[in-house]
Amino acid sequence: MSVLADRVTLFSESVIREMTRHANRHGAVNLAQGMPDFHPPQQIMDAAAKAIHDGYNQYAITWGAPPLRAEIARKAAEFNRITNLDPDKHITVCCGSTEAMMATMLALINPGEEVIIFQPWYENYGPDTKLAQAKPVYVNLQAPHWTFNPDELRAAFSPKTKAIIVNTPHNPTGKVFTRAELELIADLCIKHNVWVITDEIYEHILYDGREHISIASLPGMAERTVTISGLSKTFSITGWRLGYAIAPESLTVGIRRVHDFLTVGAPHPLQMAAVEALKLPQSYYTELTEKYTQRRDLFCPALKAAGFEVEPPQGAYYIMTNCRPFGWTDDIAFVKDHLIPTIGVAAVPGSSFYDPKSIGQGQVRFMFAKKTETLTEAANRLLKLQRT
Ligand code: GLN
Repeated sequence: MSVLADRVTLFSESVIREMTRHANRHGAVNLAQGMPDFHPPQQIMDAAAKAIHDGYNQYAITWGAPPLRAEIARKAAEFNRITNLDPDKHITVCCGSTEAMMATMLALINPGEEVIIFQPWYENYGPDTKLAQAKPVYVNLQAPHWTFNPDELRAAFSPKTKAIIVNTPHNPTGKVFTRAELELIADLCIKHNVWVITDEIYEHILYDGREHISIASLPGMAERTVTISGLSKTFSITGWRLGYAIAPESLTVGIRRVHDFLTVGAPHPLQMAAVEALKLPQSYYTELTEKYTQRRDLFCPALKAAGFEVEPPQGAYYIMTNCRPFGWTDDIAFVKDHLIPTIGVAAVPGSSFYDPKSIGQGQVRFMFAKKTETLTEAANRLLKLQRT
């Protein structure tokens, strides 16, 4: 008899994080797990140290330190255009948007209910769905521009559909959902009485003048949407584990129950520093966009020079490409047996973003939230692909 409960036999560990361990073992440049190798803004590092010295070392209020929830409400109104938020009723600070997503799924979905997911998907949504005992229903995003067929989306809705997961900007493809696409999703959700769980963690990383649109800001959507985001990507603090869920009061009650017994709360001093982060001026975001655009515009041509086919992403910091130009069909073997140990660069096998994995076979995800020197080193190493 297995020692493991059935629920954890339904999925395996994260491939993204497994690749980080492989990268470390082989001294490879880690372009797998989405985390920067540069510092967060000095002010917020100072604010974190100060918060510890000022005595914010015990539990915060479980739902999030009040000043942080107040700042999130302000930011959501100004940036996301999600208005009339009451921080005491609608906002829950969690240990990363990862926990916010899991807590939302557990609070919303009954076993056997269906959840629509755009495929490829960020790998957490698979285990999240399984832990919630939901049935995933996939809608395909088609390369190279990662559009979907509206009829396929319409057909995905059934009487058992409880929610749809939206992720814009999208991991792993870099797709930014257009207003028309979000309006179609919204119309269908209203028609079928379905919730939207939207993961907007890359909301500040968009290219070529694109605008971030929160589906909760569309008419009639705030009352059926959970907007999940966090500070990890915007402020380069993925290790601080600060995320949040914005939801109607009726659902926030459930999200808070799960969160309360899962983690009690996110780290208090870091929440206090996050207040300072959210107060940074507009110039911070302008610079963020400029810097990520430079990284994208350095790394896309580098991948092309190495022999990959590349469609520059519209947002986020990932590029989904393919190992076929090098004669490999199995992306897992390509990354684990060749790219990491021989070439010295880590990426994520793209099949891990698909169910069944065979649909995504041959795809590879690179990420470029790295210093120029790191990307240049990776670019030089990738040139070896032509010769091996
Ligand atoms: N979101 C990042 C990625 O896709 C990292 C996720 C994580 O490891 N929590 O790589």
